[in-house]
Amino acid sequence: MTTYDAIVVGAGISGLSAADALHQRGASVLVVEARDTVGGSIRSERTAEGFVLEHGPNTVVSKDPVLWEHFAGLGIASQRLVADRRSGRRFVLINDQLELLPTSPPAFFASKVLSTRGKLRLLAEPFLPRTPMPDESIASFCTRRLGAEAAQRLVDPFVSGVYAGDPSETSMRAAFPSLWEAEQSHGSIVLGMILGRKRAQIDEGRPKPARMRSEMFTFRKGLITWPQAIAGALGNERVWLNTSATALQSAHGNWQLTVTRNGQPETLTSAQIILATPADVAASLVERLDTTAAQVLRAIPYAPLAIVHLGYRRNDVSHPLDGFGMLCPSGEWRQILGTLWTSSLFPGRAPDNTVLLTTFVGGARHPRMLEQDDQQLLFLVQHEQQALVGACGEPLLTNVTRWKRSIPQYVAGHAQRMTVLSRLEASYPGLHLLGNYRDGVSVERCWLNGQALVERIARMGTLRHCSPIPTSTR
Ligand SMILES: Cc1cc2nc3c(=O)[nH]c(=O)nc-3n(C[C@H](O)[C@H](O)[C@H](O)COP(=O)(O)OP(=O)(O)OC[C@H]3O[C@@H](n4cnc5c(N)ncnc54)[C@H](O)[C@@H]3O)c2cc1C
Repeated sequence: MTTYDAIVVGAGISGLSAADALHQRGASVLVVEARDTVGGSIRSERTAEGFVLEHGPNTVVSKDPVLWEHFAGLGIASQRLVADRRSGRRFVLINDQLELLPTSPPAFFASKVLSTRGKLRLLAEPFLPRTPMPDESIASFCTRRLGAEAAQRLVDPFVSGVYAGDPSETSMRAAFPSLWEAEQSHGSIVLGMILGRKRAQIDEGRPKPARMRSEMFTFRKGLITWPQAIAGALGNERVWLNTSATALQSAHGNWQLTVTRNGQPETLTSAQIILATPADVAASLVERLDTTAAQVLRAIPYAPLAIVHLGYRRNDVSHPLDGFGMLCPSGEWRQILGTLWTSSLFPGRAPDNTVLLTTFVGGARHPRMLEQDDQQLLFLVQHEQQALVGACGEPLLTNVTRWKRSIPQYVAGHAQRMTVLSRLEASYPGLHLLGNYRDGVSVERCWLNGQALVERIARMGTLRHCSPIPTSTR
């Protein structure tokens, strides 16, 4: 029986990132994936009508040159599509009107997003006293630091845009650790961000770098290009699809993983095991090792979410759709969380003279919205688009994707509870838990976390065939 250096369970971006880093270091690695395809939450589709739909994430945001090198190594750099510069134009619904979010001080003062009182309260942030707190919800933290109006109109829709979350339930410390830390260390978010950046430069002894701008991007055929390229570089022999991990046990210094592959049980052995599945699956696999860790994993809530794609003739939508899209603060009482104006964001997302609107419904804020059937969801989203951007006429394309468990929610106490998982890993050398329920949910963060995990494993010196990572590309 082959003993692998490492087995990775789950071929989402987290697991593939770790597997790729291991493979590049010369380790023998196997990825087992329950579904018949790689990518996990990343699911792209080109429809017969010529629309490119993302049923999961739509965009990746990064300014990390390591990522650009990684894409070059995979041979997919030329397929990358950077968002149209209009993507900086984001709208938020205020008093039933779409208002542009200001991106410069003059625009901030001219904007109707906040009242004069709300603007002055926001500007007072650096002068407010620090309130040391072990943990606090985003709503409470931002109301305290930025004022109620900014918290409701700006932060609330942002949290539903990123986490499909509810700011009154989501932990500031876990979801936005650098902002939480800024208040703890410097007494102010603004001062903390400025001084933190300066300190990092002094500590690293490097001159002020040229300011790199974050890029928002996807790939011509959709985000799925990326996981497919990693899996392609690993090769079919290292990525087993239709292979579900069912049990895990520690045996004689190795790990034994039981899998069901195409309906048949099989036992695999490895020195390192990386569980890169959603939290509930990881809970079942570690149950026999540590019931407390399993409970912590199982208790992580995931928000239910529906993605509704509508394609219209360009002439049937009166709004210019000149931006990224719009978000609805909860105080506006709309039935949707927000909409990406997908065809304005990237070229080639919709056929000529048509537009594609991608709307998010439900989330932690309105979980019961998903009790409605597809026809009801389509009806209500069309109704909302009519009111918001003047979409009329029959859509050319309708598509509903339902996520019973979309994005993990970092609720109060999340950061402390994650220490239970670190203790489990310390008790069982060679066992690693990786995934979006830990240290960030964005696609970029998941990829970086996979790389960082392999870096840590290599530093421990426990990888049998570990070699330094090649400096050139693959
Ligand atoms: C609808 C939606 C929209 C999003 N939008 C964005 C966005 O625009 N930008 C952004 O940066 N992020 C976005 N995110 C978040 C981001 O996509 C995810 O956090 C990230 O892709 C998760 O990757 P992962 O590898 O950790 O987990 P997953 O992608 O969930 O991968 C886990 C893998 O484990 C597999 N698995 C499960 N059980 C087993 C088993 N027993 N055996 C073997 N394999 C198993 C699953 O099939 C899956 O392939 C979005 C997420 C969703 C759901």
